[in-house]
Amino acid sequence: MTALTTLQGHSIELDEGLGALADRLRGDLLRPDDAGYDEARALWNGMTVRRPAAIAHCADTEDVRTCVRFAAAHDLLLAVRGGGHNVAGTAGADGALVIDLSAMNDVEVDAGGRRARAGGGATFADLDAATQRYGLAAPGGVVSATGIGGLTLSGGIGWLRRKHGLTCDNLVAATLVAADGTVHHVDEERDPELLWGLRGGGGNFGVVTELTYQLHPVGPEVFLSFTVYPLDAAEQVLGGYRDWTDDLAEEVTSLVVGGSVPEEPDIPEEHWGEPCVILVACAATELDRGQDLTAPIRHLAEPIADLSGPVPYVALQQLFDADYPDGLRYYWRSLHLPALSDEVVARTIAWTRTRPSARTTVDLWHLGGAMARPGPEATAYGDRSAPFLLGVESNWEDPADDDANLAWTRSCVDAFEELSTGREYLNFPGLLEDREATLRAAHGEANLDRLRALKQRMDPDNRFRLHQNIPPS
Ligand SMILES: Cc1cc2nc3c(=O)[nH]c(=O)nc-3n(C[C@H](O)[C@H](O)[C@H](O)COP(=O)(O)OP(=O)(O)OC[C@H]3O[C@@H](n4cnc5c(N)ncnc54)[C@H](O)[C@@H]3O)c2cc1C
Repeated sequence: MTALTTLQGHSIELDEGLGALADRLRGDLLRPDDAGYDEARALWNGMTVRRPAAIAHCADTEDVRTCVRFAAAHDLLLAVRGGGHNVAGTAGADGALVIDLSAMNDVEVDAGGRRARAGGGATFADLDAATQRYGLAAPGGVVSATGIGGLTLSGGIGWLRRKHGLTCDNLVAATLVAADGTVHHVDEERDPELLWGLRGGGGNFGVVTELTYQLHPVGPEVFLSFTVYPLDAAEQVLGGYRDWTDDLAEEVTSLVVGGSVPEEPDIPEEHWGEPCVILVACAATELDRGQDLTAPIRHLAEPIADLSGPVPYVALQQLFDADYPDGLRYYWRSLHLPALSDEVVARTIAWTRTRPSARTTVDLWHLGGAMARPGPEATAYGDRSAPFLLGVESNWEDPADDDANLAWTRSCVDAFEELSTGREYLNFPGLLEDREATLRAAHGEANLDRLRALKQRMDPDNRFRLHQNIPPS
């Protein structure tokens, strides 16, 4: 048995108490000696191995309340798990009681009202499958296995960001269990301040057992532009790409991937693994219009391959799924960029060339459009004025390569620092090494003060502390 850890860092044995807790739950409570414990504690990022003392597979909001009250009564460290895909592994901790929401993944769609209510443990695969039945979608991320909980609470940038905003902008209501076990129904009328905080303030305020999203007509097919260019042509390609993004229609959202040529049957095999730059764009509009709007980025140099064409929106959402298997080693950093300057282009090319792992990518996310409209204090998310986000996604397999990959990633981010706004994106925060500075840069001082006051109201003992933690005021 593993002892439970208190908020003060003490270890306590609560075998009888945990037995009684298990009896009260509708879902299972797993302890280290139980079958299935190792699978249940495993997180997406193999760099983040945690050994919680107990994992509660909550079946409903009442189970969550029971766990939160149990934790409060014994002063326990709590972890909350949505999709388990947090890059920094915050859904688990040694000695913690984990509230695992994965069984709470039902999605109910009100097609007429264009709303979807999803359980706090749903993934985007769950949400997209349900909403696309009606030709609707809520903006998500670009990998369908990601949990809606963690992604939404820290922002959410995906293929619809320029047309319909961040995922958190489309969060219109939530049900939340606060640190004292009380249940809060949150929306613009009932608790606008808490809704403000949930739009970017992370998992600080309690367990969100239901999230309700504004939906938009999308698809069922969208135009996917996917052109692979040799890295040797990248200077010309990225220069042309930058010009194309000026005054670009908001229906089009795009991403530059500096990486290796994918081993896809539709790509000539002799190019597999070569360094390349891939321009990927989603046009969420009529297919002909989408094809026209994205045409310029398919003709910026002689491509290695062009896999563009109409695809079901659901397939687009799964386009990168296979690239990020569970349990590999991951270290993802980011920086907002005030411009796609010549120097940014040069460094993107140079750092793409020196990647220590063929799986690693240097990405440029085009922002702006609808996601940039809310002001810096309109949501807890903070300032949205940067037009690009650099993502340095280091992905590798062998633990023996950890040091080399971590060092390369940090040097790469350091090299871009002077060209950036200094702000990371909280969903790509490395291993949250410098939590305080990262949070200050992300939210801004005014938002941080407001978040601290909200934290004081919802969680004065700071029980929900593992994510992007905001101390109570
Ligand atoms: C393969 C992959 C692709 C990604 N792509 C994108 C992308 O395109 N766009 C983007 O914006 N981000 C992306 N991300 C980052 C992602 O948004 C974060 O890693 C996010 O934390 C994942 O959410 P989760 O619910 O799976 O995380 P978990 O690990 O389950 O949870 C992370 C934290 O969120 C909090 N949390 C989660 N659910 C709840 C809840 N219901 N109530 C209260 N707190 C909760 C908890 O505090 C927990 O510590 C990606 C991540 C991965 C691994």
